[in-house]
Amino acid sequence: MFYLQCVLRGLASRFTPVCVCVCVCVCGLSSGANASALEKEIGPEQFPVNEHYFGLVNFGNTCYCNSVLQALYFCRPFREKVLAYKVQPRRKESLLTCLSDLFNSIATQKKKVGVIPPKKFISRLRKENELFDNYMQQDAHEFLNYLLNTIADLLQEEEKSQERQQNGKLLQNGGGVGGSSGTGGGQGEEGEKTQQTWVHEIFQGTLTNETRCLNCEAVSSKDEDFLDLSVDVEQNTSITHCLRGFSNTETLCSEYKYYCEQCRSKQEAQKRMRVKKLPMILALHLKRFKYMDQLQRYTKLSYRVVFPLELRLFNTSGDATNPDRMYDLVAVVVHCGSGPNRGHYITIVKSHGFWLLFDDDIVEKIDAQAIEEFYGLTSDISKNSESGYILFYQSRD
Ligand SMILES: [Zn+2]
Repeated sequence: MFYLQCVLRGLASRFTPVCVCVCVCVCGLSSGANASALEKEIGPEQFPVNEHYFGLVNFGNTCYCNSVLQALYFCRPFREKVLAYKVQPRRKESLLTCLSDLFNSIATQKKKVGVIPPKKFISRLRKENELFDNYMQQDAHEFLNYLLNTIADLLQEEEKSQERQQNGKLLQNGGGVGGSSGTGGGQGEEGEKTQQTWVHEIFQGTLTNETRCLNCEAVSSKDEDFLDLSVDVEQNTSITHCLRGFSNTETLCSEYKYYCEQCRSKQEAQKRMRVKKLPMILALHLKRFKYMDQLQRYTKLSYRVVFPLELRLFNTSGDATNPDRMYDLVAVVVHCGSGPNRGHYITIVKSHGFWLLFDDDIVEKIDAQAIEEFYGLTSDISKNSESGYILFYQSRD
């Protein structure tokens, strides 16, 4: 109990409102001390074999990136695929080769704890996307989205060029074109568009958007894939409540009427969105940044939203393939501060049964009870909070 209080006090003092993360840390001394303290605290017998807990140096407001990278590193299926990519024949530098180098450098360290500068990854990121080519605070969710989509695109491009090479060889050998069936992991229905990569295998789920015409009762449904789900937040609620809100029935009327194919005219309709295929890792983004017209800028909703350690989705469709999937919380990207372009990001992760907090170059073990501190605030007066922003839930099967 005493320890928990220490941790909480430590957190409170670290994230004061003015603590914007401009700390380009070169503080090798303090982080070294911190690292060995962590190793001691876990203890030699308890320290998981083949596991490494490394903080990441901040290169000037790059905590949005560090926090997401740490969360992804502790999404085991993702980490394994990125490490496996490293062993494949060298390709020209990309965001994925930089990521696999970084993950590999963490995973192959002699020491169990320490600090690594993700220098190559950051400079590649700044080179590839002008949005991130500055020293301003960025949105961690935007970065996650960009990273996953970029990796998926790279893998699809590689798959295609391999196919092209193989087809070329077949032609040279007089085998004819013969169709490209059998290659690639695509679903086949829409050809190239649905080509699956391991990013999709891990993060992709499917939503089904059902619309029921209130005139003829005809139901039409349209499926839509997602790599993460963005849900609205409300004060003093839970993730379950947010997901219910996400799947609530919405009535389309007046100017938003729906064109019914059966009636061949615009009709009032009811619409609802449900999960049809549950992903292996469910990334839930809480929409905490809201544009306020009167302020003409984004403000943070620090609402207290409870996220459970175990989660089962109930907003699934009747024909869902795996509706009973049970999820465990494995990582949370936390936003500290009062707005999207100010403040700081940290990450809490679960590893081998205990919880760790990654704050750029600092890594600490925390008590499971301390997670409650990241639900948000019950009072609406203060906007400054350390609150869960992106949740990563991993399926048990
Ligand atoms: Zn109709």
